[in-house]
Amino acid sequence: MKTKALPIITGALFLAATISWLLRVEFAFFSNFYLLYSGLLLAMLGLTFILLQFVLASRIKILEQGFGLDRMFRWHRIFGRAGLIMIFFHAVLIVAFRLSYFGQTFFNLFILFGVLALLGFMVTAGLASTYKKIGLPYETWRNIHLANYVLFPLVMIHAFYHAIPGSLVYYYLYLLSLLFLSVVVYRLVRIFTIRRSPYEIVEVRQEADDIWSLFFKGPRFDYKPGQFMFIQLLRDEKLSSPHPFTISSSPTAENLSITPKKLGDFTMTIKDTKPGDRAYIDAPYGVFSFLNFAPSELVFIAGGIGITPFMSMLRYIYDHKLDLKVTLFWANRSEKNLCFQKELQTMQKEMSGLKVIPVMSDQPDWAGQKGHIKAQVLTNYLESLDNKEYFVCGPPAMSRAVINELKQLNVPTLKIHSELFEL
Ligand SMILES: Cc1cc2nc3c(=O)[nH]c(=O)nc-3n(C[C@H](O)[C@H](O)[C@H](O)COP(=O)(O)OP(=O)(O)OC[C@H]3O[C@@H](n4cnc5c(N)ncnc54)[C@H](O)[C@@H]3O)c2cc1C
Repeated sequence: MKTKALPIITGALFLAATISWLLRVEFAFFSNFYLLYSGLLLAMLGLTFILLQFVLASRIKILEQGFGLDRMFRWHRIFGRAGLIMIFFHAVLIVAFRLSYFGQTFFNLFILFGVLALLGFMVTAGLASTYKKIGLPYETWRNIHLANYVLFPLVMIHAFYHAIPGSLVYYYLYLLSLLFLSVVVYRLVRIFTIRRSPYEIVEVRQEADDIWSLFFKGPRFDYKPGQFMFIQLLRDEKLSSPHPFTISSSPTAENLSITPKKLGDFTMTIKDTKPGDRAYIDAPYGVFSFLNFAPSELVFIAGGIGITPFMSMLRYIYDHKLDLKVTLFWANRSEKNLCFQKELQTMQKEMSGLKVIPVMSDQPDWAGQKGHIKAQVLTNYLESLDNKEYFVCGPPAMSRAVINELKQLNVPTLKIHSELFEL
C-alpha cells in the first residue's frame, strides 16, 4: 500500500480535475469557446502537476517508503515540465480566445499574478535543467528554486479570481490550496522536529586520501542497511545546507556513520569537522537494501565511493552472521582510492559466502582484474546469472553503463536495483 499511495493520490487528483472541468464545460465546443475550454482544461491539469511538485519534493516519509526518493524526484522533474508546458499553452489559448471572440485581450492585477507566476516557473524550471551547465552552485540554484513556494499562491489567486464560486472547479481549487498548505506545514514541522534533536560528532576518521567517515551519537532510529540520510553540519555556529549521504554504518552498530568523498564545496570541508561539532539528521530514506527482497544470492556492483551502501549491508550480514552468498565487484581508478580495506579483508576471511573483486581502470601494474565492469567481467566471476539480486551504486554514468551491461546479459530489470548518488 505504501508503494501505491503516491500513484493513487496522483490518479485521484487528475480524475477530480477532469471531472470538475467536464461539469464546467457547457457543450460549447462549437464557436470559439473550444479555445476557452481547452485553455481551462490545461489550467486544471497544469495546476495539478504543479501542486504535485511540492508533494514530490518535500520528502514526505509516508509517501517515500517503498517508493524511493530518487523516483519521487524523477517524477518531480517530469511533472514540473509537463505542468509548465500546460500552463504556458493555457495562457496562449486564453489569449487566442479573447482575441478571436472579443477582438482584444484584457489585463488586470489577477492576470498579472498569473503571468508573473508563469514567468517565475519558467525561470526556476529553466535553472533546474541548466544550473550545472551555467556553473551555478547547487545551493544557489536550490535557494532560487524555493521561490516556487511564493509563485504557487500567486497562481492560485489568479485561478480563484477566474473560477465561478460554488462550482466544482472552485472546490477543486480549495482542495489544491489545502494540499499546498499541508505540504508547507509538514516541511516546517519536520524542520522543527529535526532541530530539536541534534546529533554530536564523536569521531572523524580518515579512510583514504580524500575520504572521511563521520560518526554520530544521538537519538537512535530504525533504518535498513543501504538507506541514506540528509545531514546539515553545524560547525563554528555555521549551518550547512542539507546533503544526502548513505548511512555507511549498519543498524547493528552503536553509532551512526556516513563516509563522504571530497567532491565539491561541502565535501571538501568534511575533514575540518571536529568531535563535539553538531549535526541535524533527517533519515532514513531510500529503498536500496537487500532486506527489501526475498533472500537470494546477492551481486553488489560499486563504483568508487558507491561502496558505502554495500559496506552497510555487508556489516549487517557480518554482524547477524547471515548465511548469504555475496559477490562484490568494486570499480576504482587505482588502489589509492580504496577504503575499508582491512575490514573487507576480515569479512572475506570470516564469511565463506563473500567474494570481493576489486577492478582497477587506471593502474597498469594491478595484479587483479583491470578495466571496467563489463559483461565479460561479470560472467568471468559469476557461476551463473540466474536467481540473483543485482545492486548497483556509483557515479550516475558508471551505474547506467553497468545497468546496460546487465541488460545485455538478459538480467531481468526487476532483478536490478540501483542508487545513483544523484537526486
Ligand atoms: C542517495 C545518495 C547517497 C549518497 N551517498 C554518498 C556517500 O555515501 N558518499 C559520498 O561521498 N557521496 C554520496 N552522495 C553524493 C553527495 O551527496 C554529494 O557528493 C555531495 O552532496 C556533493 O556536495 P558538494 O557541495 O561537496 O559538491 P558540489 O560540487 O557542490 O556538488 C556536486 C553534485 O552533488 C550534488 N549535490 C550537491 N549538493 C547537494 C545537495 N545539497 N543535495 C543533493 N545533491 C547535492 C549535485 O548533483 C551536484 O552537482 C550521495 C548522494 C545521494 C543522492
